Order: sequence, then C-alpha cells, then structure tokens
Amino acid sequence: MNHPKYAQVSGPVVMIGFGSIGRGVLPLVLRHLDITPAQVTVVAPNDDGDHILKEYGVKRIDCALTAQNHREVLTPLLDSTSGTAFCINLSVDTSSVAILRLARELGALYVDTVIEPWAGLYDNPDLPLADRTNLALRETLLAERRARPGGKTAVSACGANPGMVSWFVKQALLDVADKVGLGGAVPSDRQEWARLMERVGVRGIHIAERDTQRPRQPRSLGTFVNTWSVEGFIAEGLQPSEIGWGTHEKWLPPSAQRHQDPLAATIFLDQPGAATRVRTWCPTAGPQHGLCVTHNEAVSISDYFSVVDGDSVRYRPTCHYAYQPCDEALASWHELLGSAGTLPERHHILDVDEIADGVDELGVLLYGHELNAYWYGSRLSNDEARKLAPHQNATGLQVTSAVLAAMVWAIENPDAGIVEADEVDFRRCLEIQRPYLGPVEGHFTNWTPLTGRSKLFHDDVDESDPWQFRNVLVR
Ligand code: NAD
Repeated sequence: MNHPKYAQVSGPVVMIGFGSIGRGVLPLVLRHLDITPAQVTVVAPNDDGDHILKEYGVKRIDCALTAQNHREVLTPLLDSTSGTAFCINLSVDTSSVAILRLARELGALYVDTVIEPWAGLYDNPDLPLADRTNLALRETLLAERRARPGGKTAVSACGANPGMVSWFVKQALLDVADKVGLGGAVPSDRQEWARLMERVGVRGIHIAERDTQRPRQPRSLGTFVNTWSVEGFIAEGLQPSEIGWGTHEKWLPPSAQRHQDPLAATIFLDQPGAATRVRTWCPTAGPQHGLCVTHNEAVSISDYFSVVDGDSVRYRPTCHYAYQPCDEALASWHELLGSAGTLPERHHILDVDEIADGVDELGVLLYGHELNAYWYGSRLSNDEARKLAPHQNATGLQVTSAVLAAMVWAIENPDAGIVEADEVDFRRCLEIQRPYLGPVEGHFTNWTPLTGRSKLFHDDVDESDPWQFRNVLVR
C-alpha cells in the first residue's frame, strides 16, 4: 500500500512509555511522517516491548520518569537545535503538565492522550474527592496555559477519548443541525459551536462505547484483563464518577458533590466510576449499561459547548462516558471491586492476536433534540485493525490514529500554544484518522432512558423528561 507522508519531523522524537498505545503509535509515525528510526528514542522502564523496538531499529532508555529526574533525562533528548523536537507522552504515572512545560521550554512540540499526574494522586485516600477528579487535573493544564500563553504547540489529551470523540461531536452536531433545518456555515469559533448546539437543542452527550473484543483464552482469577492499559483503567475507574453537568438537569444524585467554582463544568459522585452505571445506546447492542468513568472529555466538551452570559451559564450540555468495556474487563472490575480493596495480582492487555473476534464501537450519542438521539462513531473490528496496522487491536488503533492526527496538526500549526482536542481543526484530524477507523457511521435512534423500563420493581423516574440524568443513572 502507498501510505501518504503527511509531514516532516526535523528533530528528535521522544516517546515516553511503550505500552499498548506506544507500540501502535510507533509504526504509524514511521509510516506517515518523514522521519527515520534513528531520530526516535523511547523512554520507558520495562523491556517487554523491546522485540518490537528491535524490529524497527529504535532505541530505548530504561528509565521511569519522576518529578525529580524528568528534566535531567529529557532535556538532552529534546534538543531542538538541529530541528524541532517532538515529545509524545504515552505513559502512566508521569505528569503531563510538568513534561509539556519542559518540552515547550525547549522549543519542542508535544502530544499526550490523558492529563496524567505523577504517581500517587489517583490512589491517595487523604486527598479530598474533588482533588481526584478530572476537572481538577484539567485545571492544572488550564493554569499552565494561563501562566504561559502561546508558544510551541502542545496538544493535550488527544487519543480516542479523550481526543477523537471531540471531533465526532462536531461532525455529529453538523449532521443533526442539517436534519433539523439548521445547517449552513460551519461554526468558526467556540462560541458559535456552543450556540449551534444550544439552538439544535442537544441536552447532552454520551461517549457511548461498546467493546465486544473476546480473547481466545478466558481470563483467570486474579488477572485484570483489558484491551488497553490496565493500570490506566484501574486508576480512572477508582476516581470519583464525574459528569459534565447540563443546564437542563433538575435532579442531583444523592452522592453528588459540586466543585467550589460555581462555573465548574462537572459534578462528581462519592463513588468510583467503575461502580457507577448509566443507561446508553450503541448501534450493535442497542440499549446497554455503561460505566460512568470520569474522563477529560466529559469536562472539556461540556465546557467547550457552554454558552456563558455574564456571570452565569445559560446553556451547557451534560456529557459523560458510558463505557461497556470488553467482557473480560467487566468481570475484572467485578472481581476488583468485590475483593475488599485487593488489587489484581496480574495485569494483562489483550494483543491483536490473542483476540478471537469483536468490535470496538466508539461514538458520541447526542440526545434530547427534536430527532431524539444520534450516535456517530467508529465501528472498528479487531480483524480490520489487524489488516490496517501492526501491533494493535481495534481499541488501540482508534487511539493511535488520533495521536498521529494530533501530531500532524501540531507540525502544521507549531505555535498554537497549549490546546485541547476540542480546539484543533476537527476536519483535518478526522481526514488523517479516517483510514484507520473502519466504518464511521451515524445512526438515529428512538431509544430513550425510559424505553422498556421494567414494571417488575418500583422505578424512580421522571416521566416528564426522558433525558434527565435521573433516568440515565442506574440506581
Ligand atoms: P500501558 O499500561 O500499556 O503502558 C504504560 C507505559 O508507561 C509502559 O510502557 C510503562 O513502562 C510506561 N511507564 C510507566 N511508568 C513510567 C514512568 N514513570 N516513566 C516513563 N514511562 C512509564 O498503557 P497504554 O495502554 O499504552 O496507555 C498509555 C497512556 O495512554 C495511559 O496514560 C492511558 O491512560 C492513555 N490512554 C488514552 C486513551 C485515549 O483514548 N485518550 C486510550 C488508551 C490509553
């Protein structure tokens, strides 16, 4: 196949972390960017991906970055004197903000897929709940942007979700706007996007995902199995559940807490996201329960589409994750949450060849408008992922192709400062990503969270307004 080269990387590339996502990003970078393997250095503290690095001729520095050593380790690697360096952060337990600050100081471009803290925040029981939310993590990024505006481009939290789904939201909104007779010029800034969403009458957005990938070998007791980072999933699943809180919501869950800032985009619950279920809809399964795990996009999308009038928010969509992970991961969560605080003995990420079949169906469900609800997303199977790119399953490819898109956008826009996925050119990024997403489809549905509710038990619902979170939350 003839793969397009989108851009040239003139300086060194440093990839931090070489887990399931790093292994998938590397071949895409070498395929689509004008770069040689000699320009790339991986920094990661374990050797289990070294056979892949050897295949590509890429070196690794064996090191776990910390608050104490990251400047010393990364400064010589991100030397931009011979050409602009690029830092791709695909690790756990490293501070995104600290590393992007250093990269920008050194004149390097930067991309990551999550706003990650140094180790010790996610599992610190002494921290107030609010400090363990993604709103708090995102505030550290926004504070960095306020303190150092402009400068070299750093694209924050740009994988599949967070990341690509922000581009899907815009495309889905344009599709619905067209259907309800509000189509026309594509909005050109954030306020125009937010006003369009308000006019279209979107009450909220689910990041609605169903992963049906199944392993050939079943999971064994004590092993947490997933299709991407187990460490990352456990960390976020044990954060408080968090919901971008729309202006139409009339009811607060009993365990809900609000942030001190009255304009804060989210509320959070005094319970882990992995133990919080919500009703949602995906094309293959139709109605399903998903885990309401906190994610950066729940904060950033709700915030991006807020219409602010003076000191108050006139319009804001509800936005949260509704994730049915693969069956093995669901069973792993059940075991973890029930095991009196014991963490799993073993972590296992299913690689493309261990998976018998299945699809990662990842999209956005825009609901509450006059056509009820619209799902727009990628329905990538593991079999198709195998044909499209090496070393990754379907979940991985949805993430790594978004990283590639963010990198190309950063090279094309090198002085954009710190940006979120909501702020980059969604059309350009989807154009780069699309060959790797399998079928990308839009589906309208008549389903609401009140559809088919059981009459066997008392169900505390708001019949007057199907799209209240009160009806979405499984209680
Ligand atoms: P993984 O668990 O497979 O790999 C993590 C990597 O980080 C490993 O190579 C590990 O050696 C490295 N690492 C751990 N501690 C480190 C340290 N102190 N310094 C440097 N490297 C360190 O994870 P993954 O599936 O490859 O995911 C990577 C990151 O991407 C995670 O933060 C994950 O949450 C995120 N992610 C985002 C999305 C998205 O759609 N936005 C999707 C999947 C993963």
